[in-house]
Amino acid sequence: MEIFDQNSSERVLSDRVLMGPGPSNPYPEVAQAFTRPLLGHLDSDFIALLDETCDRLRTVFCTDNPLTFPVSGTGSAGMEAAFVNTIGEGDAVVVGVNGVFGQRMCDVAARCGATVVAVEAEWGTPIDPQRLLDAHPDPTLIAVVHAETSTGVRNDLAELGAGKGDALLLADCVTSLAGIDVRLDDWGVDIAYSGTQKCLGVPPGLSPLSVSPRAVDRLLERPRSWYFDLQMIADYVTGSGARAYHHTAPISMIYALHAGLGAVLDEGLDAVHARHQQCGDLLQAGLEARGFELVAPATHRLPQLTSVRVPESRLPDSATEADIREELLSRCGIEIGGGLGAFAGNCWRIGCMGHTARPRNVTLLLAALDELLV
Ligand code: PLP
Repeated sequence: MEIFDQNSSERVLSDRVLMGPGPSNPYPEVAQAFTRPLLGHLDSDFIALLDETCDRLRTVFCTDNPLTFPVSGTGSAGMEAAFVNTIGEGDAVVVGVNGVFGQRMCDVAARCGATVVAVEAEWGTPIDPQRLLDAHPDPTLIAVVHAETSTGVRNDLAELGAGKGDALLLADCVTSLAGIDVRLDDWGVDIAYSGTQKCLGVPPGLSPLSVSPRAVDRLLERPRSWYFDLQMIADYVTGSGARAYHHTAPISMIYALHAGLGAVLDEGLDAVHARHQQCGDLLQAGLEARGFELVAPATHRLPQLTSVRVPESRLPDSATEADIREELLSRCGIEIGGGLGAFAGNCWRIGCMGHTARPRNVTLLLAALDELLV
């Protein structure tokens, strides 16, 4: 079956199917939200919309945490905000590392002056929660990436919450939120951050953050960042009375997040998770049927991010894996991601997130691979 015009090199940008680990295509409601007229960031109508956005975030994070709001900045801003407000000089921080984003957490924690205890697991395998709990007798914080985007592996959180003792538990939920179950309160997660561009189906630019009352009680008096000082921001985003100016909120991005969360909650969180699972199952079964080897073990495999070893023997003469990704993009309008770090050049990362998580996109990709590979 020919699924695209062999002679056409025209790129139809609006038809692009973004299936990389990066931005997913936004929900249609989100694209419309960007056309709304701007309001002032202290306008009472905008404040009401911001309040509703924070309520919606509490629902998707499954938390009652009053301090829940979108940090102005991408997922890495949420990561910085989480560490810089809770970690001071010499604090022991246990970090799970089984991919790029666990490594990034170590770097951020070290820059806060922490003594970092990295608990490593082979890339492509989950981290045993007991190893994290046993790594230090009295850590200030235990940090783990829930959905490791660089490998497609899920790391479990519930056991960490149950065994954390006096430590705070920090979870990176950039790729997990609205893709798989995230239950902050049930699992005892004290600080979590996410990113808008993954399963929430909103362009990059905000980092939803949620902080438990237990963690709020331990926030540093004077963190080494003015912009990310959570006590100062809290007066603006979660105050009940007059809001004090802290920084100018990115109005249009908050419209977009409000709309994206609305789309998710209208569909229903369970239904959204089920759609991601259905697409992940379809994609992973299709890849395995074609002889591809999946990186993550079935027990800890993310549906929204599939990491797969590139089958060298299926590449056409002299073509590299990067050539195939380029062909997918230029001829089929489908973007998939290359490997990161140790997986560069030998793995693909295929995102199926947010609005992009539709069975038709999986069918299109598998058919395109049939055509491009030998
Ligand atoms: N954490 C994880 C698990 C991610 O996948 C990413 C980005 O892909 C980040 C953190 C950093 O987010 P951003 O690129 O939005 O700053």
